[in-house]
Amino acid sequence: KDVSSKAIRRRFLEYFIEEKGHNFVRSSPVVPFCDPTVSFVNAGMNQFKGIFLGKQVPQFAKVANSQKCIRVGGKHNDLNVVGSDGYHQTFFEMLGNWSFGDYSKNTACLYAWDLLTNVFKLPPSRLYVTYFEGDNKLGIPEDTETKEIWRMIGVQEDRILPFGAKDNFWEMGLTGPCGTCTEIHIDNRETRNRSEFVNKGLHDLIEVWNIVFIGYNRQTDGSIAALPNTYVDTGMGFERLTSVLQGKISNYDTDNFSYILNRIHKSCNNIPEYSGKFGETDWDSLDTNYRILADHARMISVCLSDGIIPEQNQKLRRVLRKSFLLSENVFLRERGLLKELCKDILENLGDAYPEMHKNENQVNQILDYEEEVYRNIREKAIKDWKVISANNPKLESLEILESPSLVAAYKDITLINPKEIDSKLAFKLYDTHGLDEESIEKLSVALNLPFNAKQLEYKLQEAKTRSKEGSLLKFDNLLPLLSNFSKTNDDFKYNYVKNGDTYIFPD
Ligand code: ATP
Ligand code: MG
Ligand code: MG
Ligand code: MG
Repeated sequence: KDVSSKAIRRRFLEYFIEEKGHNFVRSSPVVPFCDPTVSFVNAGMNQFKGIFLGKQVPQFAKVANSQKCIRVGGKHNDLNVVGSDGYHQTFFEMLGNWSFGDYSKNTACLYAWDLLTNVFKLPPSRLYVTYFEGDNKLGIPEDTETKEIWRMIGVQEDRILPFGAKDNFWEMGLTGPCGTCTEIHIDNRETRNRSEFVNKGLHDLIEVWNIVFIGYNRQTDGSIAALPNTYVDTGMGFERLTSVLQGKISNYDTDNFSYILNRIHKSCNNIPEYSGKFGETDWDSLDTNYRILADHARMISVCLSDGIIPEQNQKLRRVLRKSFLLSENVFLRERGLLKELCKDILENLGDAYPEMHKNENQVNQILDYEEEVYRNIREKAIKDWKVISANNPKLESLEILESPSLVAAYKDITLINPKEIDSKLAFKLYDTHGLDEESIEKLSVALNLPFNAKQLEYKLQEAKTRSKEGSLLKFDNLLPLLSNFSKTNDDFKYNYVKNGDTYIFPD
């Protein structure tokens, strides 16, 4: 039996498209065109937002695909845990099936259970399902219907578990489509009942599939409004499914990652192999850094081949610079490592996402350019820092050599010589140097200047709301920018509503 990741992806699509009559819709690019409520596409349902909101008529009543997703920034930000566990990446593929008025809860649960237990042959004794237990604040009652569905399907009573809004009320972002959900979790190790450990962050008992019943819209004022229809929206973590089916306890031990980890090892002299270890205190350990670099290289490959330009995207640029930094400091490769990794990744993922094959040249050009920019900034930062720290030993704690942007920010601050880092200054550091809260905190401690992180958060929120208007990008103005990239974006225009000459997702 073929359990390669490619075969698993294919089997999922075959099941829904050939056996259950769904239409295939390509993965959208990870760029959330015209939708300022998310920084990257974070779930398969993003491209169908207009349909859920009742603003668009669906082309097909049931569709399925595998969608490129990125969870950096916003409500579903996973950047900070990447590397420390084996099942959260910044980039992952979400396998999904949708029903826009065709089937409902019952069939959605049946399909998922059938696929996992009969097609992929996972024993029910290793599966758990969860359902929404109700929430007073949301004003939504317990989802007893779904509980009953799972019982009818034959799931053991003590493996059907209720959870609250945090786990079983899914939302796309701070606003937008949302709804109650039911999830399937897999115990990767034990067969005895471990119900009490579901949703507790165990690395060997993980969530794989989320079946959402989108029936509400979270509005800008924070309130929830019922939508005219409740549609089925499901998403299964492809890398998690692969690791379960390949009998591994971490996504990094599967063929979605092993070729990247091997390449890092082969390309770097005298660096020990990836050994797959996790530990509570191993943030700086080699294995963790292997995972971070492999993850980041995948995210970068996807972003660049989808036409995101680092110059215009701080989040992507930070991930890029972190990767250059790891290549140099940990893997002792001054140049070119990231490019080698991306080459392999484009090759590997290109089968499923042809745009990745097509845009290889552009990806390489941007990588060369960004690496050059990074090297220049870094050289300058090192020189500057030597001068700065020579007469201030306290600043050593900043480990400034690690971050050129910290040096630049430091120089800005000392020019003004302020009494505190107030929210205005903090915002400026964020905006011009891309410093996050943590880096600003570090600076404030080293310089002995008070800093209130809460105020910065408030300021950022404010700025986001303000820029919302401005960021309703004109789709047609964007196209020339992307003209070197494949025109995949044209295919997705139908997901947007035309408003004058602007394509938007209406709120
Ligand atoms: P978790 O609780 O593990 O963070 P989630 O509830 O945030 O997952 P969903 O928003 O429900 O995830 O997304 C649907 C599926 O996508 C999940 O069941 C999981 O299999 C997968 N998934 C979510 N986040 C990631 C990630 N960062 N890396 C890999 N797979 C992910
Ligand atoms: Mg999550
Ligand atoms: Mg979850
Ligand atoms: Mg979930």
